[in-house]
Amino acid sequence: MSRVYNFSAGPAVLPLEVLQNAQADLVDYKGCGMSVMEMSHRGKDYDAIHQEAIATFKELCGLGDDWSVCFIQGGASMQFAMIPMNFLGAGQSADYANQGTWSNKALKQAQMIGTVNVVANCQKDIPTRMPANDEFKWTAGAAYSHICTNETISGAELKVIPDSGSPLIGDMSSDILSCERDYSKFAMFYAGAQKNLGPSGMAVVAIRKEFAEKGSTTIPTMLQYRTYVDENSLYNTPPTWGIYIFGETMKWVKKMGKENLFKLNAEKAKKIYDVIDGSGFYRGTALKEYRSNMNVTWRLPTEELEAQFIKEAAAAGMKSLKGHRSVGGIRASIYNAFPMAGVDCLVDFMKEFERKNG
Ligand SMILES: *Cc1c(COP(=O)(O)O)cnc(C)c1O
Repeated sequence: MSRVYNFSAGPAVLPLEVLQNAQADLVDYKGCGMSVMEMSHRGKDYDAIHQEAIATFKELCGLGDDWSVCFIQGGASMQFAMIPMNFLGAGQSADYANQGTWSNKALKQAQMIGTVNVVANCQKDIPTRMPANDEFKWTAGAAYSHICTNETISGAELKVIPDSGSPLIGDMSSDILSCERDYSKFAMFYAGAQKNLGPSGMAVVAIRKEFAEKGSTTIPTMLQYRTYVDENSLYNTPPTWGIYIFGETMKWVKKMGKENLFKLNAEKAKKIYDVIDGSGFYRGTALKEYRSNMNVTWRLPTEELEAQFIKEAAAAGMKSLKGHRSVGGIRASIYNAFPMAGVDCLVDFMKEFERKNG
């Protein structure tokens, strides 16, 4: 077996143990005589997988009975559309922070549905950053407010969750369950699964039941949150395989101990930032206070050197370090499942590369 160090931003590395267990269960899930992919979503074997996945996630996030956890296909991008379709009615307005590529995409979808107030804008700031807490200009009486906790492309993370005064919705696609966070500040939060939770193709949506009830009743059934809440995401056939891997990944997080994992995440990121800060060769993309612990982004003196860095790193077994095509540079995505050994390998490589080319 030859696994590389996979720095991909998403779909991204999954815990090896989860993949190996899935492999062992692939053709015959725990004596059922069939794969999880082949079993009825109405049967008791699948039901146990579904319920346990939800229960483990709720436990990890500290969510009580007033919350529902839903599996919705179409990834985080579908949520960009569903949120305003459900909650942005005629005569209402919604608050959106424009913090980077993803939050900008979210607000553009909302603008197609209704009135949007941009409460802070730092999408184009270089170095990239997040709004400071006193920078948000919240609107009294907004239907809801939307933030992105971690901008995956630029590598900036919101360290303090603001009090918006209206139901707060968070896109946490790239930093969910990666650090200590007070999820109770939110009315809803969601994540495309493929970064910190499992395979691609669905969003994991945590929503307060009473908030879901406020959603529109005149949009198609599959687009209403209440459908997922009322039917426990079993109104139609859910992405059963993705939910199974998600559940296994949540069990892995629980076994690792989330506090341990959060500490490790901070240590992993710090090792890379320390090399950047200790060199005159590498230049961090994000303002220090907002540096992401999940997506570490930096530049080299020239684009030629960046291309050489990516190529030589790949040859040394470190893949997908190329920054997003919209911003260039280098991006090391180091989600929960990314091993410390891979960070150590990168850090050594960075020092050596600077010594040879700096
Ligand atoms: C990846 C990402 C998305 C998009 O997720 P899809 O599942 O591809 O739709 C949205 N928001 C953030 C912050 C992301 O990192």
